[in-house]
Amino acid sequence: MNRILVAGAGPVGLTAALALARKGFPMTVLESGADLATESRASTFHPPTLEMLDDLGIGDELHERGLLSPTFAYRDRAEGLVALLDLAVLAGDTRFPYRLQCEQSKLTPILRTRLLRHDGCEILYNWHLAGVTQTPAAVTASAADGRSARGSWLIGADGAHSRTRRAIGAGFEGITYPERFLVASTDEELTAWLPDLASVNYVFDPVEWCVLLRTPDHWRVLLPTPSQTPDALEYARLDTRLRGVFDPGRPWRIAHASMYRVHQRVAAAFRVGRVLLAGDAAHVNNPLGGLGMNSGIHDAVAYAAALASGDEGAIDAAATERRRIALEYVQSVSHQNYERLRATDPVARAAHLESLRAVAADPVRARESLLRSSMIAALRPAVGGPA
Ligand SMILES: Cc1cc2nc3c(=O)[nH]c(=O)nc-3n(C[C@H](O)[C@H](O)[C@H](O)COP(=O)(O)OP(=O)(O)OC[C@H]3O[C@@H](n4cnc5c(N)ncnc54)[C@H](O)[C@@H]3O)c2cc1C
Repeated sequence: MNRILVAGAGPVGLTAALALARKGFPMTVLESGADLATESRASTFHPPTLEMLDDLGIGDELHERGLLSPTFAYRDRAEGLVALLDLAVLAGDTRFPYRLQCEQSKLTPILRTRLLRHDGCEILYNWHLAGVTQTPAAVTASAADGRSARGSWLIGADGAHSRTRRAIGAGFEGITYPERFLVASTDEELTAWLPDLASVNYVFDPVEWCVLLRTPDHWRVLLPTPSQTPDALEYARLDTRLRGVFDPGRPWRIAHASMYRVHQRVAAAFRVGRVLLAGDAAHVNNPLGGLGMNSGIHDAVAYAAALASGDEGAIDAAATERRRIALEYVQSVSHQNYERLRATDPVARAAHLESLRAVAADPVRARESLLRSSMIAALRPAVGGPA
């Protein structure tokens, strides 16, 4: 029995499945949806993730669908552009010294097509994992409708509300942020209004901080929104808030808007017996810095290498290391990004903006900072210093 099961056909589950299929394992992906998700969610690929996806043979296709983002910007609502960080200083550290802006919903169909080219690989839709049982030699996933699937291992990549995580009894401690995050996609060309925008812009403000992101299809504006206000009120005042970013003297053209709660949580264990947790099933964080999907893809690739080695010690070590990185790097960097965007103390704010200007102006410090924000330091501490 060398078939491996994966719960969830999101970016993480499909990456794990493709990586293992390429190593010769028959794969069964169990997906509760009727098809792949089409929601616009994560949209930034960092350099190490691009390297991993390129190693899986899909780098070119992903690049064809995405936008190269060689720089990103820190801005202040009042002052405008503060600092532009150029990932070109990472040219000696990665073969992809830039971010690629591309929605995760463009990645998953590429992964699916490649996976299904491998003999013995399948995706079963409308398959809602409800329970997991295991013996020392095998694991069985069962669906709510009585079906079951058996494999030598199960990778639980079934998202933030993971049933796999619950089935193995792993806690999911952490915090929920007080505000909700409102994301508006717009057909407006923001560089016509703000010509010095980069493709990714973090905008500091004690009250109305925001993120402006370009994707291949839209610009996206992410705004914090109070915890308890009615959704209808928030959508009704969205245009007024967008006009605070730039006022064209008419309403913004909004293609889509959605609001969601954001958590910082890490599963108590990433491995229990023959079950491994990956991606949002294992760890969730705020979207500031674009670390969620990226670190989930890193989990998938690390697990595939360890499982292919057949070495129990290597599998254990991969789960332990990915949990360490989730706790020490992903949680801390994403939370620090949140705290800095919304900092209220004027002295601390001014000092931070000044330090960003100094970092951008010094290639050595810029490289150090970018090794961390681009996730290279998390994966290769020897290169970037401790994560
Ligand atoms: C609204 C929203 C906006 C986001 N924006 C950003 C962003 O801007 N930047 C960023 O970095 N991250 C963002 N994220 C987070 C990012 O989308 C996730 O980190 C990423 O999707 C994780 O991938 P995943 O494959 O682990 O999980 P998911 O993408 O959630 O995929 C899980 C899959 O499992 C399936 N599934 C669920 N339950 C079961 C079950 N019981 N049985 C079988 N299948 C099941 C689901 O249908 C889904 O296909 C956002 C998340 C949300 C919800």
